Parts: sequence; structure tokens; C-alpha cells
Amino acid sequence: MSFHEQRSRVVELLVDSGYLRNPRIIKALLTVPRELFVPEAMRKYAYHDTPLPIGWGQTISAIHMVAIMTEELDPEPGNKVLEIGTGSGYQAAVLAEIVAKQDSGGGHVYSIERISELASFARKNLEKAGYSENVTVLVGDGTLGYREAAPYDRIIVTAAAPDIPPPLLEQLGDPGILVAPVGDRYFQRLLIVEKKNGRINKRWGIECVFVPLIGRYGWSVEERWKN
Ligand code: SAM
Repeated sequence: MSFHEQRSRVVELLVDSGYLRNPRIIKALLTVPRELFVPEAMRKYAYHDTPLPIGWGQTISAIHMVAIMTEELDPEPGNKVLEIGTGSGYQAAVLAEIVAKQDSGGGHVYSIERISELASFARKNLEKAGYSENVTVLVGDGTLGYREAAPYDRIIVTAAAPDIPPPLLEQLGDPGILVAPVGDRYFQRLLIVEKKNGRINKRWGIECVFVPLIGRYGWSVEERWKN
């Protein structure tokens, strides 16, 4: 089966199982070539719905997790988005497809990665897939956000946080939506935060397991391995 056929099949399964509903997100997942965001040796598994290793102890999230988080984030064309945890760049490309390429576009994605080698990997992948003009990849501690381009219409954290980092809440626009896996280092739930008319509303989504968010408002490198 070609990559194109595999991509269509997995998206169809996610629609049938109820994970994918938003037509914009369905279109984005059908468009972004996930095979360009995994290391060469992993390419044949690109459409297996499971996290895959991308080096430096990190993973590209499973396709259903990208689908669920994007549905909760509800990005719209023209939005300015901040992502914490660029990894392979795949989630950033899915978001860029929606905010910068669909309809009249005009949106942009800022994505922060703490491991500089992964940031370079992501930049190359985004270039190959045609999203380099729509995504700015930054190296640093994403728990501090990126004040220079704030406020953001949407913020997505793709690593496990002990709580929502306060700078991210400050940098979220009004109205705005933030999605993050929150819990301990082994088990989390998605937390969906909505800012509207000066008020903050929080609700829990599905259970999940992410690699830890390491930084000033995340876990310390040492804590990461403690029981
Ligand atoms: N969104 C990614 C993708 O589409 O491939 C997957 C993200 S991976 C599950 C989590 C990433 O978060 C890792 O690449 C890790 O290095 C990064 N990370 C962890 N703590 C971070 C921090 N404080 N700032 C930025 N990136 C961080």
C-alpha cells in the first residue's frame, strides 16, 4: 500500500472511531505526509497508530493522540499558535496546514524544542513537507513560552507537565484555548483551558502518557528518573 493509501486508511479509522470530527483537521491529517517526519528506519511504520522513536529519547506522538489534541485545541485559519515540544515537527505541520494554508490562511505556528538536534531535525522535516514558512522552530525552555510573539490564539503542550506553566497562561490570548497533558511523570490527562471574557475555564479530557516536560515550570532532569 502506498503512503497515501495508508494515510487515508488511518484517517478513515479515526473518523469511524469518533476521534476525528472536525473537517479541517481531517483534511490536515489527510494532507501532511507523516512519513517525512520520522527517521528513515521508521518510515515503514509511519502510519502505525503508535508513538515512534525520533532519537534523543523522544517520540513522535501516536496519530490518534495528534487527532484528539488537535480536536480539543480547535485551531482556526488565521490563528497564531504556540507549541511546546516540537519533536519531529509533525504536530506543528498539522497545525500550520489548518491555520496557515486552509481558507485564506494567514496564521503562523511558533514551536519550541529544548533539544537543539531535534529542532534541526524538525526544521528539515518541515522544509521537506513544505511548511518552513509557516512554522518558526525555536530552541529553549518552552515552559517560559515565547513572549515576543504573544498573545496566542492557541497553545499546545506535547510533553507531560506537572501543572500548566504560568507564563503560558499569561501568553494565552482572550479568547484562547490551551491543551496540555497534566499529571505525574508516568500518567496524565489532557487539561483543556479556555480563556474567555477575562475568565478561565478548565476541564479534563482523556487519559494519556507523554514524555516529561523538562524545564523551569516542568520537571527537573533529575526528577525525571525518580520514583
Ligand atoms: N509534538 C511532537 C511531534 O509532533 O513530533 C512530539 C513531542 S514529544 C512527545 C515531546 C517533546 O517535548 C520532546 O521532543 C522533548 O524534547 C520536548 N520537550 C520537553 N521539555 C521541553 C521544554 N521545556 N521545552 C521545549 N521542549 C520540551
